[in-house]
Amino acid sequence: MNYVSTRGGMAPQAFSDILLEGLAPDGGLAVPQELPRIDAATLESWRGLAYADLAFEVLSRFASDIPPEDLRRLTHAAYRPASFKSAEIVPVKPIDGAMALLGLSEGPTLAFKDMAMQFLGQVFEYVLGKRGATLNILGATSGDTGSAAEYALRGKKGVAVFMLSPYGRMSAFQRAQMYSLQDENIHNIAVHGVFDQAQDIVKALAGDLDFKRRMRLGAVNSINWARIAAQVVYYFWGWLRATSGPGQQVSFTVPSGNFGNILSGHIARGMGLPVRRLVLATNENNVLEEFFRTGIYSPRGPEQTYATSSPSMDISRASNFERFIYDLVGRDGHRVKALWAEMARTGRFDLTAERSRLESEFGFVAGESSHEDRLGTIRTLFESRGLLIDPHTADGVKVAARFVEPGIPMLVLETALPAKFSETIQQAIGRPAPVPADLAGLESLPQRVEVMDCDAKLVRDFLEKHAKL
Ligand SMILES: *Cc1c(COP(=O)(O)O)cnc(C)c1O
Repeated sequence: MNYVSTRGGMAPQAFSDILLEGLAPDGGLAVPQELPRIDAATLESWRGLAYADLAFEVLSRFASDIPPEDLRRLTHAAYRPASFKSAEIVPVKPIDGAMALLGLSEGPTLAFKDMAMQFLGQVFEYVLGKRGATLNILGATSGDTGSAAEYALRGKKGVAVFMLSPYGRMSAFQRAQMYSLQDENIHNIAVHGVFDQAQDIVKALAGDLDFKRRMRLGAVNSINWARIAAQVVYYFWGWLRATSGPGQQVSFTVPSGNFGNILSGHIARGMGLPVRRLVLATNENNVLEEFFRTGIYSPRGPEQTYATSSPSMDISRASNFERFIYDLVGRDGHRVKALWAEMARTGRFDLTAERSRLESEFGFVAGESSHEDRLGTIRTLFESRGLLIDPHTADGVKVAARFVEPGIPMLVLETALPAKFSETIQQAIGRPAPVPADLAGLESLPQRVEVMDCDAKLVRDFLEKHAKL
């Protein structure tokens, strides 16, 4: 299995080679040269597997350059019950009728990003060890991604994390989650500024190619193919739990932002998993909903990107979307390149001619949910079933309801636990969300954070002093 670029300008490379890279050299994203196919008999033979073994089966199709016995060790280290609140790793929780939640938020930071990050932490350490190399992850976070990365990479050999966050602008719970980590390879840097300014510092330092090379800088952003591949596993898992025999179809609803999570569903479907519909749910930031409704992709500027109560879906452009468009245009890198050039020129591209294929060929439909929908959905589920869900998952449940069909299970991906977004929970049901027992004392633990002015020079000096070289 080799990987090429969505823009057609990269010689085929192995999984371990694209693992540590960001964008392909031609500005595109790495994709498998061709998708592995899983036939019905193989799929049936996977019914009894534990999550870590299923992860091995799926990931061995993508990471074919890692010896099987090593890969199995990595998936077992990533998906061990001690790191997750559920022994099953991903529990399925019935809502009512055909609808159920796929519980992806049982990991250390209570959000689905742990599912991919836990594997990424293992495979980074493994590949760096093999190559005798080191890597310094530099990133900025307003909450979720940064903490998932820190929990996945804490204590790992050969890698350090430098995570910038906006001082005083995260919730007390989020701060405690990140800053209470005492591992020597985790560096929290709180800057006096907003998230965008922190992000600008990261861009400036990573854009200085000499500094980047010298400091061995890397990233763990959502375009990383290993993250997409690790997420494919839980679509297989969900299908196996929701069906009893070959050929039965399941629909999935995915609360979406950067199009990473649902892209993994698209890949699973492309591998032969019997997926009927992939329902994309957005909040008020509906760039993607608009595309699947109209065929026009028109990313927004910062002034039209709203801060909502499902903040992890507040995106203006969807970084993984290019991988789907590549498939939509028949895996034609020149066409993708032309579309992105058109977008750079005009701010949008128009694929209205392909609109009907989005559903008929790829199973995609989409819907949008608002703040009021979110609150109403959280309240209704809590009052009628005693089930408490987070605001992102609520966007999913709200949109999923429109697309439920008789006889077809509808799995809504639970992308976070309510304890992470307690303010909105309070607003919806009049009281805060319960904090999981093992995290009850989190906010009183000692914290370790470097506070500095919002100045690239200071961050640069800090890296010079603390990077693993
Ligand atoms: C990241 C995130 C999303 C969006 O996922 P994408 O892969 O960016 O589409 C949704 N909900 C939560 C809670 C998240 O952390």
